Amino acid sequence: MVGMAGHIRPIPCDQCGAESFAPLFVKESSQGQTFQLVRCRQCQLVQVNPQPDLEAVAPYYAGEYFEKRSERGYDNYFSSALKQQINRVYGLNLRDLGFDAWEAGLSDTGPWQKDLQGLDRDGVAIPAPATDGSTRNLFEGRPPRCLDVGCAAGYFVEYMQSRGWQSEGIELSAHAARFGIEQLQLTIYIDDFLRSAVLQQGHYDMLSFWASIEHMHSPRRVLERCYELLRPGGRLLLSTCRWGLLARHKAARWRFMNVPEHLYFFSLSGIIRLAADCGLRRISHITYGSGFTSCKDAGWLYRAGKQIADPLVKWLDQGDMMALQFERSH
Ligand SMILES: [Zn+2]
Repeated sequence: MVGMAGHIRPIPCDQCGAESFAPLFVKESSQGQTFQLVRCRQCQLVQVNPQPDLEAVAPYYAGEYFEKRSERGYDNYFSSALKQQINRVYGLNLRDLGFDAWEAGLSDTGPWQKDLQGLDRDGVAIPAPATDGSTRNLFEGRPPRCLDVGCAAGYFVEYMQSRGWQSEGIELSAHAARFGIEQLQLTIYIDDFLRSAVLQQGHYDMLSFWASIEHMHSPRRVLERCYELLRPGGRLLLSTCRWGLLARHKAARWRFMNVPEHLYFFSLSGIIRLAADCGLRRISHITYGSGFTSCKDAGWLYRAGKQIADPLVKWLDQGDMMALQFERSH
């Protein structure tokens, strides 16, 4: 049982303001607290409600959060094998979302395409080496600017830096952020995205949220802030677990049903509608993941199941993870 700091109380729906909810099920947390999952009767958003406030969820993010994750398998977030795996997913997501093509258009003279040798087997961009051995600026003029929100140790910040971007991150957990700041020499603000005074309006060409928005207390205010911080025409990349066929089927046993770390469970149409309300237009999306998670010691039957299920759910657009690309359109 965790300490009594903070409050757990009923809140109106963050997405639509309604106060009427249909109960779904109760789920126990890793620390033995139970939480009620409900669906908003007006907009259908699935959420933890009554909801623990920032103080009440704090014990779940204490020290070892990034070193030990039981169900999701962050065996050690800081290991290089995991980092490689994460970079590979970034590269594939950016390619599949069509981000590469947009990025190539950011420079008038297009040095990006001619200087990019391609992606290595881990999906990491490989710039062509400069002939004089110097570090080459991949973009003419000012490099584009991006901010990764909920960046943890900053792997995506580092990844975008390797693609030639002026890359920053923001992270509430000082423990995770310090690794990126000290070991990787990255620019990471240890701050709250909604309150931070260092972030400038209209400044960023791209903002990203990799499996972080479902942790935040007000996704609507977060997306409104994204609109303010992006320049017109700037892009938002967002991935989150997806409330769809697989999630409804597994319910409390669903692999992403980690409460109270995850507070919101968006459907594909739900997150698109919320973003549109905040002035962010959907450009593209992908869904992936079947619930067969990667496991080194898996038996042949399990591996065969994964090999069939993963491409199938992707093809059917029924994956239980989704990644989306939005644009600030005006
Ligand atoms: Zn609602």
